[in-house]
Amino acid sequence: MKFIPTIGLEVHCQLNTRSKLFSPAATSFGANANTEVQTVCLGLPGALPVLNKEAVAKAVKAGLALGGVIHERSKFDRKNYFYPDLPKGYQISQFFEPYCTKAKIGIVSGSGKKTVGITRIHMEEDAGKLMHSEDASVHESYVDLNRAGTPLIEIVSEPEIDTPDEAVLYLTELKQILEYIEVSDCNMEEGSLRVDANVSVRPEGSDKLGTRVEIKNLNSFKSVKAAIEYEIARQSELIESGGKVVQETRLYNAARDITLSMRSKEEAHDYRYFPDPDLVPLILTKEQIEALRKNLPELAHEKRARYVSEFGLPEYDAGVLTADKATALYFEEVLKAGAPAKKASNWVMVEMMAIVKEKHKALYELFPADALAELIHLIDSGTISSKIAKEVFAEMVETGKRPKAIVDEKGMGQISDEGKIREIVLSVMGEHSASVADFKAGKERALKHLQGEIMKKTRGKVNPQLANKILAEELAK
Ligand code: ADP
Ligand code: MG
Repeated sequence: MKFIPTIGLEVHCQLNTRSKLFSPAATSFGANANTEVQTVCLGLPGALPVLNKEAVAKAVKAGLALGGVIHERSKFDRKNYFYPDLPKGYQISQFFEPYCTKAKIGIVSGSGKKTVGITRIHMEEDAGKLMHSEDASVHESYVDLNRAGTPLIEIVSEPEIDTPDEAVLYLTELKQILEYIEVSDCNMEEGSLRVDANVSVRPEGSDKLGTRVEIKNLNSFKSVKAAIEYEIARQSELIESGGKVVQETRLYNAARDITLSMRSKEEAHDYRYFPDPDLVPLILTKEQIEALRKNLPELAHEKRARYVSEFGLPEYDAGVLTADKATALYFEEVLKAGAPAKKASNWVMVEMMAIVKEKHKALYELFPADALAELIHLIDSGTISSKIAKEVFAEMVETGKRPKAIVDEKGMGQISDEGKIREIVLSVMGEHSASVADFKAGKERALKHLQGEIMKKTRGKVNPQLANKILAEELAK
């Protein structure tokens, strides 16, 4: 029997505001435990939540960038459950009336272009963190409430993702959009982006979706892919052997590369959602929404299209250069400083990216964008050969000096003076008279040898086109 998988993703994204969603406490990652908490995050009696305007603006930007409908009215509800990292005993979330619906993400998968619907995006506050002793014999657990109350948006997709690879493409695109609009650092290791994957399978030919299993808290694209792959295989084998998939929540164990049951539907929480009586509905005006829309930066897919249409770059280059915003902005600065697009693209994608990877540095930390434009200009104007350019480039990375200064200092400039080149050509011909005789006797290979000797004598600094032309002239005499 063949099984068709269906995947729906729920993504929690931490917004990069300075303070929390309903409290003035700071949000920075890695502070000493329980130092970034105030009465509201601690749920002390009488403390009242006040909505963070910046968090709303960032959430709305995300909804707009994802092509969603922003609702002028939305509402906050209480999601009730008991857990030690949740001092209030409830989490403030938007359940009945989310601020954004009907968003979408375009992906290009193996089977072509497709759009994955986003059912809803809502704002909510994060819980704190529990830390359990790693030594199982030590029965100690600790609570850190620094994260409690941090603003999140939850982005819930339609069950329209067909393969583990499509899930990764969807997440890559989503992460890129959120990074471009600068509403989140999207750091998965620090938990700024967390993924729950819902997976079901159905026999080929059936149009009714199978029972879904939710795999919680995946914190890397690698584990998203592996967990979904494992789950598809597990469910398919289960059905094939006569079993039935039960709706449940599972956890992915990366060390063993399997998913394990966490709780079944029967044990699932009843959250007893109800509107938070401490908060009035959130009302946004059309003008506020439009002002945020107008201020959205150019997004990666828009840049990608423009690099192809305006700069004539290949799709591949456009994709690599826009993969992250910092690279795209650096590249655009190189062009602003006067470099031709394809040459700038090659230097950034090949030479610079290699160093970036090797040294774990950002592009602009190697040297400023206009220094690269200057280097390209030195090549284009014939001042240095592309071979010498590589040496200059290495020196730029090493010392941070400007390319022109390096060329002047080391006398690396190309020899382009015809008289000087003719002198060199004649002296090489004199030193290698046997090769000259060979060439005149019809041995074509002797020409290559003479050309090589001229290069050697000038340590690669002679303009090769001119040198070859003059050599041909002298040999013809
Ligand atoms: P819950 O709160 O129970 O997680 P949500 O509505 O927040 O429910 O999320 C449901 C998620 O499950 C959505 O991403 C949706 O696309 C996905 N989903 C729903 N039905 C299926 C199914 N049969 N197979 C796979 N995914 C599904
Ligand atoms: Mg869920």
